[in-house]
Amino acid sequence: MKILIVYAHPESKSMNAAMFHEAIETLKAAGHEVQTTDLYAMQFNPVSDRHNFTSTLDPEFFKQQLEEVHATKVNGFIPGLDAEQQKVEWCDLMIWQFPLWWFSVPAILKGWVDRVFAMGRTYGGGHIYETGIFSGKKALLSLTTGGKEADYLKNGFNGDLLSMLKPLHRGILQFTGFSVLQPQVVYGPARISSAEREEALSGWRSRLQDVFSETPIEVGTY
Ligand SMILES: Cc1cc2nc3c(=O)[nH]c(=O)nc-3n(C[C@H](O)[C@H](O)[C@H](O)COP(=O)(O)OP(=O)(O)OC[C@H]3O[C@@H](n4cnc5c(N)ncnc54)[C@H](O)[C@@H]3O)c2cc1C
Repeated sequence: MKILIVYAHPESKSMNAAMFHEAIETLKAAGHEVQTTDLYAMQFNPVSDRHNFTSTLDPEFFKQQLEEVHATKVNGFIPGLDAEQQKVEWCDLMIWQFPLWWFSVPAILKGWVDRVFAMGRTYGGGHIYETGIFSGKKALLSLTTGGKEADYLKNGFNGDLLSMLKPLHRGILQFTGFSVLQPQVVYGPARISSAEREEALSGWRSRLQDVFSETPIEVGTY
């Protein structure tokens, strides 16, 4: 199978980096094809504006979604964005590896979505949710937190993690047609021992061996 891993962490010795490399090695060893997007290494520009395009529909008034639909028709995305779109179109499974920042993804990853998930190319024209352009593909969020697991339960002081991830699961991934797998979460890696971190990496490795047999979660229902 074909897997795209989108990775957003600025430190190459972080727990996120370890999870990213673990996933690449495990999936390749299992015979899968893997492509990656290492956003900080690429110094990906998260700012979405006219620079997304080599084409112009309306030079007087910038309306991003209309420019995206136009660019889809005339092959008018800049090569860097087109390459990212091709990776998403190519994969059977997309994994995002990131630290939870402000109950969400780091801005560099949100900016990647803002620019890559373009109207016309990735959604629109009636193609959303069940009829989404990426129907048949799966997505998995793999993340770390600063807080403990207890903080992210329904009665925990932060509230439950799945609700927090709903804008990503429902608003981006399912919206464009992906089926969503249970997220992989390492809670507070800086608070646990090295042995516990090794155990978390080993759990991630085991899960990935059989990830394509997993049943997606029903995000809309919680
Ligand atoms: C802007 C911002 C917003 C944030 N918002 C939130 C929030 O909303 N909610 C929240 O809970 N937290 C939040 N945090 C905290 C953040 O989520 C955590 O700091 C982060 O998830 C921890 O993951 P890490 O990869 O950075 O861990 P690191 O601190 O890099 O890693 C933890 C430890 O793992 C070790 N390690 C690395 N590789 C290995 C390996 N192979 N084996 C064993 N150990 C290893 C590292 O040496 C390190 O000691 C925020 C942080 C920032 C900067």
